Amino acid sequence: RPVRLPVALEHAAYDVVIGTNLISRAGALLAPVLPQKKVIIITDENVAALYLPALQEALTETGIEFRALTIAPGEHSKCLKTYERLTDAILEEGVERRTTIIALGGGVVGDLAGFVAASTLRGLPFVQIPTTLLSQVDSSVGGKTGINTRWGKNLLGAFHQPLCVLADVSALSTLPQRELVAGYAEIVKSGLIGDPELFQWCEKNGDSVLAADPDALTEAVRQACAFKARVVAADEREAQASNGRALLNLGHTFGHALEAELGYDGRLLHGEGVSIGLKLAFALSVKLGVCPPEDLARVEAHLSALKMPASITDLPYSFRVADLMAHMQRDKKMQDGRLSFVLVNGIGKAFTSRDVPAEMVRDVLIE
Ligand code: NAD
Ligand code: ZN
Repeated sequence: RPVRLPVALEHAAYDVVIGTNLISRAGALLAPVLPQKKVIIITDENVAALYLPALQEALTETGIEFRALTIAPGEHSKCLKTYERLTDAILEEGVERRTTIIALGGGVVGDLAGFVAASTLRGLPFVQIPTTLLSQVDSSVGGKTGINTRWGKNLLGAFHQPLCVLADVSALSTLPQRELVAGYAEIVKSGLIGDPELFQWCEKNGDSVLAADPDALTEAVRQACAFKARVVAADEREAQASNGRALLNLGHTFGHALEAELGYDGRLLHGEGVSIGLKLAFALSVKLGVCPPEDLARVEAHLSALKMPASITDLPYSFRVADLMAHMQRDKKMQDGRLSFVLVNGIGKAFTSRDVPAEMVRDVLIE
């Protein structure tokens, strides 16, 4: 039996359904929420080869008409060109307002298909079937959709909440181990931001999650989605003075700088950058005297027990500290010459600070 996690937002309420073999039961699971028995599936070539037949069979069984559009895998597809190709194909058919877009794939497919859904006819219904751990615990919850432009990542986008999310942990059995670890880093992040029990749970069960044990995965996805849903519900459009949603960027300022330095060419997965960034955010907080060193030691111990990247020197690339600093200073988080960072008072106690001296950041990068 799948777990149902209700997400209640100001303008939308939907369930995240988490469990095994959900794709092969998608027809029955989706029929109650679809406004019309007609859908357009957007997926990438890798995922299409693995899971599209099962989804199509499940939809056919329930009498749901479908059409599938496939994109090339990878971040490069999250672009205007692919967006245009997809919207052209959809509009050519004379799509109706009640036809639902289904995103079947990782965060790239989810963000792109979500933006297609958000913008086509000013908004088509949308369903997420995330197939990477990262997309199950992070990108499929929260309603952010978008594409990249030559000016940077995720610069064109919209908030568009799904009718439903089906997180089928069985699909993670085919995910490369590196992708699994990268997604797991976002789960650890959630615990470190504001859910110390989740971090404790990770310390006990992280190895089972990385061994793709279905029960451990279901529980990990449930807890991480519940955490993200709570944060998003309090700050749906990233506009609260409380800055709730900004906390989700714990470890990301460092992570983004590493990714950007490598030119987003896939050598470093986003979650790998986050893993290192989490350690550095704790190290920075200890250096600033706001976090007990024991908590940093616990984070380091957990990352090292699971052989996750925790330091820049764990990477087979060399970085210049000045280049990393320049990236962080150019980041949108820079205001009035001071660096804005998510810091911690300890495990599960993240807060935003707009006042981090650049020298301290540099020191942490060098150590
Ligand atoms: P991805 O979608 O590129 O998937 C990673 C790789 O795994 C791809 O090659 C894909 O084809 C393959 N794959 C997917 N599912 C598979 C499966 N079950 N078995 C085997 N292979 C599979 O990457 P991702 O890490 O899922 O997502 C990254 C994207 O998510 C980025 O573009 C990022 O900006 C975005 N993101 C968005 C949000 C948000 O809130 N909207 C949050 C975090 C990240
Ligand atoms: Zn992230």
